[in-house]
This record gives sequence, C-alpha cells and structure tokens, in this order.
Amino acid sequence: MTEISTEVIQATSYVAGTPIHASQVLEVHSPYDNRLVGTVTMASAEDTQNAIKQALENKVSLTRYERYQILDNVRKLLLERKEEFAQTICAEAGLAIREAHYETGRAHDVLFFAASECLKDDGQIFSCDISPQGKARKIFTQREPLNLAACITPFNHPLNQVLHKIAPALAAGTPVILKPSEKTPLSAVKITELFYEAGLPKSMLSVLLGKTADVAEALVKDPRIDIVSFTGSVAVGKRIASTAGYKKVILELGGNSPLIIMEDADMDKAVLLAAEGSFRNSGQRCTAVKRILVHEKIKDEFVTRFVEKAKEYNCGDPADPETKVGTVIDEAAATHLESVVQKAVAQGAKVLLGGKRTGALLEPTVIDDVPRDAEMIVKESFGPLAPILSFKDIDDAIALANATDFGLSSGIVTNNMAYAIRFIKELKTGTVNINEVPGYRIECSPFGGIKDSGLGIKEGVIEAIKCFSYVKTFSMPW
Ligand code: NAP
Repeated sequence: MTEISTEVIQATSYVAGTPIHASQVLEVHSPYDNRLVGTVTMASAEDTQNAIKQALENKVSLTRYERYQILDNVRKLLLERKEEFAQTICAEAGLAIREAHYETGRAHDVLFFAASECLKDDGQIFSCDISPQGKARKIFTQREPLNLAACITPFNHPLNQVLHKIAPALAAGTPVILKPSEKTPLSAVKITELFYEAGLPKSMLSVLLGKTADVAEALVKDPRIDIVSFTGSVAVGKRIASTAGYKKVILELGGNSPLIIMEDADMDKAVLLAAEGSFRNSGQRCTAVKRILVHEKIKDEFVTRFVEKAKEYNCGDPADPETKVGTVIDEAAATHLESVVQKAVAQGAKVLLGGKRTGALLEPTVIDDVPRDAEMIVKESFGPLAPILSFKDIDDAIALANATDFGLSSGIVTNNMAYAIRFIKELKTGTVNINEVPGYRIECSPFGGIKDSGLGIKEGVIEAIKCFSYVKTFSMPW
C-alpha cells in the first residue's frame, strides 16, 4: 500500500493488484514550491503486456449486487479519507485546497451514481407482433461487459476524471487498465488502492505510469483492448483516433466555452458566473469560461463590476484555506499563458487586472477589448484568463460563439425566453446552460462535446456505462 508520510508519498504502479517494484520512479513535485510530493514506480512495456494478460486470463463475472457493493464500499472509504485525498490533489496539482475538497465531493457523487446504476435494470423488450410483418415473438436486450478497457486521463481533475472512467467501467463489469497523467498520478494510485481495499477482484484493475511508448501507446494500439476512453488535449486525442485501429474510442477533448451575457441579464448573476467560470480550478476545467461575450449596451457596466468581483479571487499558497486560486499545473503552462496575454496586448487588448506570474502561480487576469482573432480567443488557454469581447445583437453573439474549432459547452445569462430558445437551438456545442456556467452538470447527466471537443459520444456515469458495454439482443417465441 502507498505509504503516506508528511514528507513524501511513495506510490507504485500496480499490475492487477501487484505493486511494481522498479528502479525507475516518476517524481511528482508541487507546482507551488517545487517540493517533492511523491514518487511512483514506472511500469515497463513488459508490465503493460502483463496487465493485459492478467485482465484477460483472470476474468471475473460479478453480480450486479457485487458491483454495487464494491462501488459503494469505495464511496464509504473515500468519505472516511476525503481530507487525505484533498491534500494529495492540492499537493500534486497545485489546486487550491477548497477546490480539492470540492473535487472529492464530486468524486463521491460519481461513485454514488455508478453504484446506484448497478441496481437498475437496463434491458428493453420489443414485442414483434406490431406490424403487418410481425410475429408472435419478443426481442429482449441486455448489456454485456467488454473484454478490457484502457482509460487515459488528464491532470486537471486528478481524482474525478479517473473515477469518471473506472467507476462506470466497473459498474458495467468491464476490467480497466488505467493510465493517469504523469503530472498528477498520486490521487489515481490512491483511488486504485481503495478499489482493492473495497473488495474489487484485483485482475479487474491495473494502474500504470510509464513512458508513453511503453504504456499509453501500447494500450491504444493493442487489438485485445476493446475500448480506449481518453480525456485530454485535442492533439493527443486526434493521435489516438489515428492509431487505435478497430476498437471503440471515446474522446473528451479541449474546450473554448463562451459565457454570453445579453443586455437584459441580471448583472449580479452575470458577474458572479463570469468569475466562477473563469477562475475556479485555476481556469483548468475543460468547460471553464474561456470567452466572455457581452452585449455592447451593458459592456461598460459589466467590465467595471467584473473587475471588482475578480479581485476577490486571490491567488497564492494552494494549501491555505483562504486561497481561492492555486497554481496552474506547472511553470511552463504559466509562462505560456503569460505569452498568450502579451500577444493579445500587442494586438490592442488591455489587461485590467492581474497578469503577474510567479513560477506556476498566475494571477486571475481580466483582459478587455480582445480582438476576435487573438490566440486566447481562437485556441484553448488552460488557465485563469478572462478575455472580454462585445457583440451587437443575438445574431452576432451566436456567430461569435460558434466561430471556434471547439464545441464543448456554453453558458447564457438572460431572462428572455426567446433568446434562450435561440441559443439552445443554434449553438453548435454539447451543452447550453441558461443562467449557469458552462461547466454546470451533475455527475450522472450526459456530458461531452462535438467538433474538436469530441466525437459527440457522451460520458457522465449513465452514458459512460453504455460506452463500456455492448447490447446483446435475444428473442423468444411469445
Ligand atoms: P494531454 O497532454 O493530452 O494528456 C492526457 C493524457 O494522455 C495523459 O495521461 C498523457 O500521459 C496521455 N498521453 C500523452 N501522449 C499520449 C499518446 N501519444 N497516446 C496516448 N496517451 C497519451 O492532456 P492534459 O494536458 O493532461 O489535460 C488538459 C487537456 O484535457 C485540456 O485540453 C482539457 O480541455 C482537456 N480536458 C477535457 C475534458 C473533457 O471532458 N472534454 C475534461 C478534462 C480535461 P502523460 O501525462 O504521461 O503525458
């Protein structure tokens, strides 16, 4: 088991519950002060092959109740240890401890919904005598597990992203090899250990950290793996799409979500949603507000109020409970974001607040008069940047919102029903939230994007269980 010390977490990769004792270790450093937070032993190409073999040769068929019990046990164990998990997320990702606490709450809900789904029947019945060609038969459906899933996760929600893959897969009865981000592997290893402790047959779950060619790419290309479920960047997602071959591929990729503020908006709400959407989780949510689009009639008032609100989002030591915004994932990411701001300024944008960087700590940054073709508008900038643009009417707002390669989510601030309906119908995106941030969801509702944000296949616990299983039909005379 992972040894927790006040100093350094010493973790291992696991092949079907067996810890890998390798000489090569991955070091995890705090993005805030660069201290060594933990180490994880690295898996080799041979370990990857072994994990696949173990999963396929030691197949376990669990009843629905057994799957429910295991997931519910993990849920209870997580509740007992939520502080330990929050501390780990905060230390390895640099996320503010208040965000880390929030993430453990979301992770709990994922387990709660996944466990609950195990108890629901998922079959359908089709009577066949309902057309002139009919017969006295019935067709029944049931879901069957897949042979093996490879789940590859990003750094930005180190615990919740992992659970959004492994909980639905295991609820479906499908074994998993998990490859978490090398930037935030400690929460992933710890939650894997919780599954073992909760009674999961060990062959059903491995967690491997290792070189991309030895682990991630080997899993993606292996024909024995039925599904690759990936969440991460567009570049890696498209590479996976081109190399995976004949298997199911689920891609949840980047975002560039707008918050659109109409002239009738409740200004208090608009200001709050813009700040929460832009700065929570250090702006590192795939559904974070990446473009604030404001009707030109109310823009000046919005900007004045928003700058005041943004000042409340203090950034600093992630471990301090008073800190609202921690670091971004590393200094390289912060430096990149700084350069994106400088490029926008060179194009005529104005920094109204923030913009200063110390290591991986980047102040929440409000930027006004950003040109529509600035890099921070066209591409995803994964950090606490809040660029503001104006539009003249709803047609302009819809055109501007849709003028992006991404299509993950959106938020609209309006009390005008006609506006709301037009946005719901005309925005080319996976989600439209009225009077909410683009990131609003519950853990079991369908979630996922289109265009470069994904293939339109939804996750969220209920849909993800469908991804990790297939439908078998059988029919009988009736
Ligand atoms: P990333 O660089 O694409 O990495 C994601 C995962 O892919 C990591 O585990 C990484 O491993 C692995 N990987 C790297 N190269 C690979 C390859 N050739 N084949 C297979 N796997 C490979 O993404 P990130 O920077 O961690 O995460 C941020 C991105 O994720 C943002 O774009 C964000 O919008 C997106 N995201 C999307 C959603 C959504 O639901 N749509 C949710 C959260 C985040 P290593 O760490 O070992 O390199």
